[in-house]
Amino acid sequence: MSSKHRIVLKVGSSTLCDGTTIHTDQMNALATLIKDLRQYYDVILVSSGAVAIGHTKLCINKNTLQNKQALASIGQPLLIESYRKSFESHQIHIAQLLLAGHDFDSRKSTDFARGTIDALLANNVLPIINENDAIAISEIVFGDNDRLSAYIAYYFGAKLLIILSDIDGYFDKNPHQYDDAKILSLVNHIPQQTLEAQHTPHGQFATGGIVTKLMAADFLLQKGSAMFLSHAHKLHIVRDLLLEHKQTSGTLFCPKDSQGLKGIWNL
Ligand code: ADP
Repeated sequence: MSSKHRIVLKVGSSTLCDGTTIHTDQMNALATLIKDLRQYYDVILVSSGAVAIGHTKLCINKNTLQNKQALASIGQPLLIESYRKSFESHQIHIAQLLLAGHDFDSRKSTDFARGTIDALLANNVLPIINENDAIAISEIVFGDNDRLSAYIAYYFGAKLLIILSDIDGYFDKNPHQYDDAKILSLVNHIPQQTLEAQHTPHGQFATGGIVTKLMAADFLLQKGSAMFLSHAHKLHIVRDLLLEHKQTSGTLFCPKDSQGLKGIWNL
């Protein structure tokens, strides 16, 4: 196995598409970031966006489950084709894996999937993972891959999950409702009552809001891993964190004894 640290980067639907057009500039910026990160890290990308991209081709009611699944089936090849174009200019080969949360219930499936990931990374190929929405519905209904990406990080041996969202990080209260909300730059523990709060998605293709991100962070904290939540339109913050080892914004969720990002890799 490579000596590079493994990281998982998750990007949400709202970043990639508004249901009418695919945000190719954003995809290209992400591809450039990943190209730079791959010099030092083995990167796995988890990407939502299939339903929203499917909606650019077939304008059906996206509020019924079956239609959502149909839109995901239409959008998934288009999502991957857009990524293929964005990564082609960096000579990065991509691969697609469609997984569901319950795949990790079986040790056999987890081992097979991990074997595939290991082989792809060993050959310098970028794995791009999405939920298999034709047969699994948890993330399409609630979460937009937030929790799936935490399972992926843990079961595939990554110490850090980076969630790129439409918000700068985790605030002490909803910043869309309160002007005086303050960003929390370091979080070691998430209280149970916070995890049970109502979900608060922002935008027409968002499904989770902050709660599914906190659930993902809580899962990783319990396993001794870490998560970083940052704005998808401010990719320089991820660069600062991972290439300059400076936290200039965003929220780092890490275990108390890790002493911040530096210690994460040694946990
Ligand atoms: P994405 O589609 O990028 O995954 P979501 O819309 O699902 O993002 O979740 C992020 C949203 O969660 C924010 O835009 C905000 O409206 C909402 N939110 C509620 N409470 C908080 C909080 N305490 N800190 C940050 N965001 C919050």
